[in-house]
Amino acid sequence: YARATAMPDPSRICDPHHSPQQPSTGLNEEQKEFQRVAFSFAAQEMMPNMAEWDQKELFPVDMMRKAARLGFGGVYVRTDVGGSGLSRLDTSVIFEALATGCTSTTAYMSIHNMCVWIIDAFGNEEQRHRFCPPLCTMEKFASYCLTEPGSGSDAASLLTSAERQGDHYILNGSKAFISGGGEADIYVVMCRTGGPGHKGISCVVVEKGTPGLSFGKKEKKVGWNSQPTRAVIFEDCAVPVANRIGDEGQGFLIAMRGLNGGRINVASCSLGAAHASIILTRDHLKVRKQFGEPLANNQYLQFKLADMATKLVASRLMIRSAAVALQEEREDAVALCSMAKLFATDECFEVTATPAPLLPFPIVNFRDGSK
Ligand SMILES: Cc1cc2nc3c(=O)[nH]c(=O)nc-3n(C[C@H](O)[C@H](O)[C@H](O)COP(=O)(O)OP(=O)(O)OC[C@H]3O[C@@H](n4cnc5c(N)ncnc54)[C@H](O)[C@@H]3O)c2cc1C
Repeated sequence: YARATAMPDPSRICDPHHSPQQPSTGLNEEQKEFQRVAFSFAAQEMMPNMAEWDQKELFPVDMMRKAARLGFGGVYVRTDVGGSGLSRLDTSVIFEALATGCTSTTAYMSIHNMCVWIIDAFGNEEQRHRFCPPLCTMEKFASYCLTEPGSGSDAASLLTSAERQGDHYILNGSKAFISGGGEADIYVVMCRTGGPGHKGISCVVVEKGTPGLSFGKKEKKVGWNSQPTRAVIFEDCAVPVANRIGDEGQGFLIAMRGLNGGRINVASCSLGAAHASIILTRDHLKVRKQFGEPLANNQYLQFKLADMATKLVASRLMIRSAAVALQEEREDAVALCSMAKLFATDECFEVTATPAPLLPFPIVNFRDGSK
């Protein structure tokens, strides 16, 4: 039991130099520097608390505000509204590093970043300056509201209605599985202002405290326990037309454009989980002796470790290539982002799941976070 619950040294797990599959390969000096900052933040501020946040289902607000002081609240948001103005590749490097400290919390931070980017990219100047600065400092938190009880993969069939009355939209309906739901201050909501199909969807910002906005109970989950997931409910909820992001009918496009980066970011979280799991496994194989010698001498286990490292490196290459395509606004970007997310989340989940029965803590946190 002591072996299973012993706290590993965070500075080993959250350090690129302890990994034989150097995550800094191919990065420029500036990227290596903020990668170092993110790994160090993960080691000092996240990893020591990851298990407690998970077990007690704590949403670590103070830690995230500290992370925001390093520029991680609006990583790819423009600098004039408080963002860091970094590229998609830079963002992936940062989220991978942070996820070695807590995959679950980093995944929420990536969703928050996606919401801020949506407002920055599609909002008008007044909206950008009103909403983005407190989100970049994480004084306020954001949630992305697309999924509904009756529309998941088929998101364009969403039913939450937004009927215009003067200078307000009256929202009715509900959103399901919303990360940060109940805790967040700003809800980026896709709702129907027009007819059926994707062209009838618009995007509005609903602020916490608006009459008619309420939340469901906190969902019980296998992982991602440091971030709440709740239904978000609208009952005659009046939202100013001035909170509409983009034009009427542009909401589905905005939602999908947000998800391109969102896919890279969430896949990068899986890279961090896989990276940490490989280091934990390798260290364990070196010290644990059976049949008179370290487990590391067992060729079957060496093959397993090689498979894990191969999956991690292949995933990282796909994600970084997709991030560059998105940054360059290439035609193949959407497909590459989807492929990277599909491939990396599955492969990295396997990396974290392979040794989990051998090393229950803290690999289970990484496994459940990447699931
Ligand atoms: C922990 C968690 C956090 C989430 N956070 C958010 C959030 O912050 N904001 C948000 O908007 N949503 C969020 N979601 C919702 C998530 O994005 C949806 O779960 C996802 O879109 C899938 O929808 P669904 O669960 O309704 O599955 P369904 O759409 O019901 O699909 C079920 C299964 O059927 C498959 N399937 C569906 N259609 C087809 C088809 N045509 N062909 C073949 N297979 C098909 C799917 O791949 C899936 O395996 C979250 C979900 C979870 C679990």
